[in-house]
Amino acid sequence: MAMPVQKRTLVTEIPGPTSVKLHEQRSAAFAAGFGVTLPIFVAEAGGGIVVDVDGNHLIDLASGIAVTSVGASHPEVVAGVQRQAERFTHTCFMVTEYEAAIDVATTLNRITPGDHEKRTGLFTTGAEAVENAIKIARSYTGRSAVVVLSHAYHGRTLLTMTMTAKNVPYKEGFGPYAPEVYRVPSPYPFRWTGEFPAQEAFDQLVDVVTTQIGAHNVAAIIAEPIQGEGGFIVPPVGYLPKVADFAKEHGIVFIADEIQSGLGRTGAMFAVDHEGIVPDLVTTAKALAGGMPLSAVTGRAEIMDAVAPGGLGGTYAGNPVACAAARAALEVIEREDLPARARHIEEIARPRLEALAGPSSYIGEVRGRGAMLAMEFVEPGTITPAPDAAKRVAAYANGHGVLTLTCGTYGNVIRLLPPLVIGDDLLVDALGVIEAAVRSLA
Ligand code: PMP
Repeated sequence: MAMPVQKRTLVTEIPGPTSVKLHEQRSAAFAAGFGVTLPIFVAEAGGGIVVDVDGNHLIDLASGIAVTSVGASHPEVVAGVQRQAERFTHTCFMVTEYEAAIDVATTLNRITPGDHEKRTGLFTTGAEAVENAIKIARSYTGRSAVVVLSHAYHGRTLLTMTMTAKNVPYKEGFGPYAPEVYRVPSPYPFRWTGEFPAQEAFDQLVDVVTTQIGAHNVAAIIAEPIQGEGGFIVPPVGYLPKVADFAKEHGIVFIADEIQSGLGRTGAMFAVDHEGIVPDLVTTAKALAGGMPLSAVTGRAEIMDAVAPGGLGGTYAGNPVACAAARAALEVIEREDLPARARHIEEIARPRLEALAGPSSYIGEVRGRGAMLAMEFVEPGTITPAPDAAKRVAAYANGHGVLTLTCGTYGNVIRLLPPLVIGDDLLVDALGVIEAAVRSLA
């Protein structure tokens, strides 16, 4: 199938009549607890374009939440999936083995930070990777406490939901939560009132760990090197290296959750690379398999191998079709140097977004790295969150054919997560729509 025409074209209102009808059927058939950003039904997608069932071509600034970095139907991913599906779709890696899983593990061992000996375990979803990273850290240390940051997002399963910070919609009504999860204040530079957020937040982490938990009881400290769902919060320079050093000093496993920020998205292969941090364990998912469900935990061999055979796994863990997709996606990310593409996207987008900010603007801050950029909306001249302004801008962009996502603890952030292969023309067109959307607030 050919790549959809790479041009924004609207032929109906958004959503169009066919999507509206299908959405009614959805409401009758599908559980209400699943939200939707834009109720259009997709017919095909590829490059930087999503085509809906009414024939509208929308620019994709979502990538299915940072998944389709290589595009939604990269020909090499499609070919890998087809070839593997024809040979076999599944054996269960814990029953009989296959090479594609080893290829993916070997690549992850090579490209994750640090040249120490590593092992990888493959799973299916991001939450499952985080859960398993915690299981591995507990098994290795013989300790149970897990330290998480404010504004964190790690998933929706019981443990990862507990580790996630935001109550509505992720936790409300789903308690009681998992035990032994401790949250520390973490630096949100735009909102941190002190002068030295890296040092002050680090001091608070140390205080909580030593006075409330006991460092010797802590199995793991986990951090997203750029907080994703929390609002694309970039920690101040120096904070994460201090945390990683503190963990090392106390025999605590330091886990970088790179599920959203990893594999080229921020302009480096991993977001921790910007500060030269070498985590003990790294979780990946999303962009890993070009749209197929696959996740991984990669890290120090002695930690990863602490779990006895049989302790890790899952029926679909490292599914062969997903591994074939990942093999292709990883090759494209490396060969086409998609981290460089992410930096190129930032060069085009950041100045345009920054020009929209200012003292009388609803945009309080533009932040992020590479192709993981965001605008935080506030009441002009204050830092009071303005979630309605963000929603109005997102609705305008969506209605004009630019698929955008909001995020943030206060729901007041618009995030840009284009496929890394998006063409410059499409990106520039999308930025024009966002500019018009922001101006429409005034
Ligand atoms: N960790 C991070 C940093 C994420 O962004 C996400 C998903 N948004 C997850 C974990 C959970 O991944 P999944 O939805 O695949 O379970």
